[in-house]
Amino acid sequence: MRAARGKPVRTLPGNAKRRRSRTGGEGAGPCGRRASRSRIKVTVAGGSGWCFGVKRALRMAETALEHSRKPIYTLGELIHNPQVVRELETKGLRVARKVSDVAGGTLVLRCHGVSPSVVEEARKRGLRVVDATCPFVKKAQDISRFLSRQGYRVVILGDRGHPEVEAMSAGLPGVRVVRDEAEARRLKREKKLGVVAQTTQTFDTFSRVVCVLAGKAQELRSYNTICETTSSRQREALKLAGEVDVMVVVGGRNSANTGRLYRICKSRVGRTHWVEDASELKGPWFKNAVRAGVTGGASTPDWLVKQVAHCIASMEAPGARASAQAGLARKSPRIL
Ligand code: SF4
Repeated sequence: MRAARGKPVRTLPGNAKRRRSRTGGEGAGPCGRRASRSRIKVTVAGGSGWCFGVKRALRMAETALEHSRKPIYTLGELIHNPQVVRELETKGLRVARKVSDVAGGTLVLRCHGVSPSVVEEARKRGLRVVDATCPFVKKAQDISRFLSRQGYRVVILGDRGHPEVEAMSAGLPGVRVVRDEAEARRLKREKKLGVVAQTTQTFDTFSRVVCVLAGKAQELRSYNTICETTSSRQREALKLAGEVDVMVVVGGRNSANTGRLYRICKSRVGRTHWVEDASELKGPWFKNAVRAGVTGGASTPDWLVKQVAHCIASMEAPGARASAQAGLARKSPRIL
């Protein structure tokens, strides 16, 4: 069995490594069955697992934990993955809901970024600030502010209420947030419109929104601020979804980019399922399935994606044998 395809991903020490070693190789997976009895060929989509920004934020938080004797806080969960957040909490990282909840010590700003007023408040309270905002997110924020200063009404394609969108729109007069082209159509006509996107949006939706807004302004300026890591992950997942019978997307339920990945895959293969970990897999999902694909969101650790892939590979899908007898060509079980 070959290792799952995709970028090598830094793993958290401790439980994460223990979990990985439990599920690696040919031994029993979390499903409690041996991988050698596999009936389903499982492929992991390229680009699954932690993105650059998430790895960077984790590294910065871990360094802060190693080097400070004072408490370390994050404003909201560092990344949208419950397993990883729990792991960090066991190491002493505390989650604060607002700056005023932090009495002292270090405040780590997560990769989604925060508004400048939050940084100011933290500094006023005497906190040491570790800014783990992803540079791509920072760039999107800078572009939004630049457009606003230049007199454009800023339109953000994004999820209302998402921390990245909140940080991007903070302090921009008259900013509009739209979820899709239908919402863009409802905007009023303006002299100057500037459009940007939350970094994890799809290029398809962005281009449709830009088309709609082109008819709504005398002057339209658009910046594609979608991060390339996200675009390539979405492309790989969509391609794989077109080649398999069942697709499984791994990631936290609170992760917007995982949700988008799920909807993208679902648009290609109806039998797409979203799980947080291998324990949520259900045998009937794989009925008569010959091939399954697995992908994970930007905040999903690589070991979790592999764990799910190994678990599917160790399943004996109901009806799979009948499919094989019906003449479907299948090679020996393996994870690509
Ligand atoms: S998805 Fe892209 S923009 Fe978002 S944190 Fe990861 S690398 Fe940064």
